[in-house]
Amino acid sequence: MTDLFDDAVRRLLEAAEHADDLDPEVLELLQHPKASLEVAVPLRMDDGSLRVFRGYRVRHNDARGPTKGGIRFHPAVTRAEVTALALWMTLKCAVVGVPFGGGKGGVAVNPKELSRLELERLSRSFVEQIADHIGAETDIPAPDVYTNAMVMGWMTDEFAKIVRRHEPGAFTGKPIELGGSVGRSDATGRGAYHCLKVLEHRLGWEADQVRVAVQGFGNGGQAVARLLAADGYRVVAVSDSQGGIYRDEGFDVPSLIHMKNESRRLQAVYCEGSVCEFVEADQITNDQLLELDEIDVLVPAALENQITADNAARISANTIVEVANGPTSPDADPILAGNGVRVVPDILANAGGVTVSYFEWVQNRNGLQWTERQVADRLADVMTLAAQDVYDLATTRDIDLRTAAYVHALGRLGAAVQAKGTHRFFSVE
Ligand code: NAD
Repeated sequence: MTDLFDDAVRRLLEAAEHADDLDPEVLELLQHPKASLEVAVPLRMDDGSLRVFRGYRVRHNDARGPTKGGIRFHPAVTRAEVTALALWMTLKCAVVGVPFGGGKGGVAVNPKELSRLELERLSRSFVEQIADHIGAETDIPAPDVYTNAMVMGWMTDEFAKIVRRHEPGAFTGKPIELGGSVGRSDATGRGAYHCLKVLEHRLGWEADQVRVAVQGFGNGGQAVARLLAADGYRVVAVSDSQGGIYRDEGFDVPSLIHMKNESRRLQAVYCEGSVCEFVEADQITNDQLLELDEIDVLVPAALENQITADNAARISANTIVEVANGPTSPDADPILAGNGVRVVPDILANAGGVTVSYFEWVQNRNGLQWTERQVADRLADVMTLAAQDVYDLATTRDIDLRTAAYVHALGRLGAAVQAKGTHRFFSVE
């Protein structure tokens, strides 16, 4: 199996060839995570037994500010995965211009096998192990796959007990009651939506002619599906870890969300208020969803390496919007490009989450509470500008969108590293 961090570095080096005047020291720094912590996370189970899970927290690079990135609870979590995700966070924060570096964390655990109390104890235990390495000025965690506001609430509470003071800025994606920001829960999907709206405007799409498939119907996937459907896009397929559903006429997305959140299962329904009835739909697998015919926009919003050299040639969508981190493997990129598939890359498409996390951190540090409108408008401004910058760069340089996003990020990272002093700066000719 390939190491996800090695893949991520390979992609970075390839993109860097297109960056102007990038000091080689910047690239050297980015290939080495600043700090990696691996911890044992003991958990007292409900039956009284003890289990120990592996946990990780990686700070990739802090040239532009404190490191920032989510915590993932998933059985497939590894050090390499967390490190790759941390590198992508460094790039992502630079793409949208928020003053953070990149970090990430995770615990190799299947949270679906834990009771609610076990999940709480696991969340608190993980914070106990990493507490010396996180904080509002150093490294700021947030939710990721199978963690959410509730988990961030437990973690914030545990951290406050350890440091013996309130420090809401040490975590983002918290419950509103504990200093969370309105608009954080759908920020990742909303950011992807803004990236698509810029494309829609530039390419003259008619919303009701655009058919969308969403793989992964969680935090990111649900929000982007809901916003697109509200604008008239036809969301014809969605899936979760158990498989997917397809309906040619499209789904009523708020009904799907209501049912999924009530029953924890994805079901083809139409709801009036809380009364839901089943609608006709085909059951499909996750693989089938990716390869559906007559799809215009494909939104991978689950995990890494879903689109690979094995299936890239069978993708019929003309646009992929990477809400997930790393859903397209590097060897799939040239195949997609050869078939004219446009890929809005993860470091741009899912940057709405970290952008509103930044807003949350700003509010926490200033004792402010912005309104939903303020958050939504500021997010729209940041995402629209970043998307326009990346799309313009791609056009003027004749490079793909992923390379353009990397070049854009490297420009900002290079400037920050250089401002602190590099060999080029100090050497006297
Ligand atoms: P989530 O836990 O809310 O949702 C994940 C969804 O994916 C669930 O519906 C799950 O059933 C589904 N899933 C899991 N395995 C799957 C599989 N093999 N095939 C299809 N579906 C599967 O997680 P999320 O926060 O929405 O994160 C999803 C992706 O978005 C991740 O790659 C994450 O890193 C990325 N992301 C999340 C945020 C955020 O703010 N939450 C920000 C940026 C990027």
